[in-house]
Amino acid sequence: MYTCPKCSSTDTYKERINGSDTGDRICKICKYTTSAVSFKEKGKEEAKES
Ligand SMILES: [Zn+2]
Repeated sequence: MYTCPKCSSTDTYKERINGSDTGDRICKICKYTTSAVSFKEKGKEEAKES
C-alpha cells in the first residue's frame, strides 16, 4: 500500500504511458505524480521509527 506524500491518500496507481510502466506512481485524489519510492509504503515507515 502506497501513500501519497501530498495528501496522504492511499488511492494511487502506476503511471503507464503507451501501455508500459514509467516507474512512477500517480495519486488519484490530487493527481500528484512522482517516482514510486516517494510514495511511502504505509507501515514500513512506522516500523523504522520504533
Ligand atoms: Zn495525493
